[in-house]
Amino acid sequence: MEKIKMNTPIVEMDGDEMARILWEEVKKQLVEPFVELNEEYYDLSIRSRDETDDQITIDSALAAKKYGVAVKCATITANLERMQEYNLKKMYKSPNATIRSILDGTVFRKPILVDGVEPLVKTWKQPITLARHAYGDVYRASEMLIDEPGLVELVYTKANGEEVRQAVHEFKTRGVVTGQHNLDKSIEGFARTCMNYALSVKQNLVFSSKDTISKVYDRRFKDIFKEIYLDEYIEQFSAAGIKYEYCLIDDAVSRAIKSPGGYVWATHNYDGDVMSDMLATAYGSNAMMTSVLVSPDGKYEFEAAHGTVRRHYYRYLQGEIVSTNPMALIYTWAGGLEKRGELDGNEKLQRFGQLIVEAAKNVIEVRGIMTADLAKITSKHDPLVVTGHQFINLVRTKLEQLCEAELAEA
Ligand code: NAP
Ligand code: MG
Repeated sequence: MEKIKMNTPIVEMDGDEMARILWEEVKKQLVEPFVELNEEYYDLSIRSRDETDDQITIDSALAAKKYGVAVKCATITANLERMQEYNLKKMYKSPNATIRSILDGTVFRKPILVDGVEPLVKTWKQPITLARHAYGDVYRASEMLIDEPGLVELVYTKANGEEVRQAVHEFKTRGVVTGQHNLDKSIEGFARTCMNYALSVKQNLVFSSKDTISKVYDRRFKDIFKEIYLDEYIEQFSAAGIKYEYCLIDDAVSRAIKSPGGYVWATHNYDGDVMSDMLATAYGSNAMMTSVLVSPDGKYEFEAAHGTVRRHYYRYLQGEIVSTNPMALIYTWAGGLEKRGELDGNEKLQRFGQLIVEAAKNVIEVRGIMTADLAKITSKHDPLVVTGHQFINLVRTKLEQLCEAELAEA
């Protein structure tokens, strides 16, 4: 088969440890033999970030902004332990935080469903995609310990000097306070990104909050979502046969457990942090979660939700055979190429991205071959356990057949 051509580059952000090893293999086995890869490569490994004083991360994010589609491998987030391990010059910010702030994006997390790995929640037939607002609230809060009696107030000093005061609490005994904020601009970007995403996947959108208690703060989110929906999206939604709904967070949780899935659930920053782990676990395995960062102006960065799989990497370095699941990394490349194809009107490339996914699912669903993490939870009898390397080889064989059958003469 002639290799598929690409008109616009895709941005590749390489990463660390076990994820990096499988990442490269996915590219070598499942992408390069089939596609004349047109890419800009950025090495975001911890050593390369250290050598460039983290400039490489900023450059990669700017490239993603320029070209519109990036695929990212998992990367080490520096902490004290990692600083010693890699002898780093400083404790760099998480690359994901840097990229997120440059793209001003929202993260959508979606589990990979395969026959043979059933969700713990029996009613779930389709993935629930979780959209987490990525700015403010408790993540940018200012907090204070109150160790003596006294009055705590919110004081808003306007640019013209005028003061607005509001009591928080008159403390008689010790306690704590917090001040949180958010910005209309960020909430608006979040709402639009969620609505664009729901349209692109043709699924209903739910935004959940607690406006019955938080009558100003959470109410603001609710109002902005509603306004943007009515002003800009309602017609497009109805044409696509989908709807937007607001829902109280506690109700949204119980509905999630009772529903068949297949919708987009937008949450506040903290709710998303908690709920995405609940969803990942309840859908089967945190190795089976994909993640895509989408900016309000439609730039996409795909990645696996899991980390660098450090424990496996150390064992791998000792020469042990490890069975690390490459599914989410495979989906990352597949998602990136499919989106590149879609944006460029390159149907062959778009279809190829889908075929990668079909080939990978086929190995698990039809042949019952999988990595150790899935073998532990599968409902299939006698699954055959393989390494990540072997799994990728099997996907390649299947992918060759699928491409031969479908793309060769198209
Ligand atoms: P992790 O890499 O997600 O791995 C945690 C555990 O989950 C693994 O030890 C393994 O369990 C299981 N697991 C995760 N992915 C798997 C896969 N593909 N196949 C099989 N099992 C898998 O999280 P971590 O060990 O806490 O973090 C390691 C590094 O990753 C850290 O430096 C962190 O900063 C970074 N990180 C990066 C990102 C990102 O770039 N997006 C996200 C999270 C963490 P068993 O050992 O029990 O088999
Ligand atoms: Mg979390």
